[in-house]
Amino acid sequence: MSIICSACHDTKVFCGAMVNPNTKEIIHYTDEAFYDGWCENCGKGQVLVNTEETILNIDKAFYNYHTIYGKKPLYAVCQVRYKDDISYNDMVFKLSLDIGKDDDEIFFYCNGIKDLKTLAVPSKEDFLITKLNYFYKPSKL
Ligand SMILES: [Zn+2]
Repeated sequence: MSIICSACHDTKVFCGAMVNPNTKEIIHYTDEAFYDGWCENCGKGQVLVNTEETILNIDKAFYNYHTIYGKKPLYAVCQVRYKDDISYNDMVFKLSLDIGKDDDEIFFYCNGIKDLKTLAVPSKEDFLITKLNYFYKPSKL
């Protein structure tokens, strides 16, 4: 399990949880625990991201898309947070390296779904995919 700070991508983070005081066993994370986390590196409250859960959600959504439409999606709209910036933005990722007429709309080109998932964990890029919103493929393609 890798839960990181969405701003600096450090793993030295804390969040609220329900704990059995006798056994110290963590029962579950409290509601909104990740939205109200604490990052030691930033020295302040930050939104925390479970990178494994983000990747799992991308896989599930990709499988569902393929099952429903019988084809692979060409685009993914993902929530992105830039390193050391407080804002979140919904950005379009193309799941192909082909530059076409859609170039103005594309934030980032990925070489397929595998490449997209590498952006949901800390990478050389200055942003992190914090959530997949949805996949799509224009009907004319
Ligand atoms: Zn941080």
